[in-house]
Amino acid sequence: MSNQSLQLTPSLYQYLYNVGLREHPVLKELREVTSHHQYRVMQISAEQGQLMAMLAKLINARRTIEIGVFTGYSALAVALALPDDGDLIACDINSEYTNIAKLYWEKAGVSDRIKLHLAPAMETLQQLIESGEENQFDMAFIDADKTGYDAYYEQCLQLIRPGGLILIDNVLWSGRVADENINDEDTRALKELNRKIHQDNRVDMMMLPISDGLTIAIKR
Ligand code: SAH
Ligand code: CA
Repeated sequence: MSNQSLQLTPSLYQYLYNVGLREHPVLKELREVTSHHQYRVMQISAEQGQLMAMLAKLINARRTIEIGVFTGYSALAVALALPDDGDLIACDINSEYTNIAKLYWEKAGVSDRIKLHLAPAMETLQQLIESGEENQFDMAFIDADKTGYDAYYEQCLQLIRPGGLILIDNVLWSGRVADENINDEDTRALKELNRKIHQDNRVDMMMLPISDGLTIAIKR
């Protein structure tokens, strides 16, 4: 026994998938389709999708934001957890990826809850702020270009209501954030943001070692 997060062996990981996960059939199908995509590693894991859906339910989320859609798995996981009148503002710049997403959102019957904005996320978020949507959202998920994360975090802090959640993906960056010799642009951006959020008294925070690292911040 150990109080450290377990190293999951392949068979233990399979066990987790077998008895620890309830995945909507369309989510499962989309995960299968994306597993053949050149950039499949960008998709969140099924257990992370389930965690995000559960967090959305816990806070009764109705209005949410996603920055970085790809083939739509994380957006679908969250959209399925929203009430019928819920909505998810989905930001991406790549229509080739999001055309796949749209097929599966439709198939799962939640496409009316998801509003895709094909534009740089910073512009979409700025438009929301300028149209008076400050404090109007319950949850945001940041998972696009890493050098944009800090700006997205600041914009989300404006858009999320007190008590709402900001989730930030890839904060452990395959371990590179803990290596002082790795300082490429993306790694540096993540290192700096991680340090900033740790000290940020606008939020309560924790970093979870799920998948590639997920920070959960609650806006105070
Ligand atoms: N959350 C997704 C994975 C996102 S991958 C999932 O679980 O499957 C990162 C995505 O960010 C890519 O689809 C990429 O097109 C998008 N992206 C990159 N730069 C962006 C920008 N400036 N604005 C919006 N989206 C961007
Ligand atoms: Ca990611």
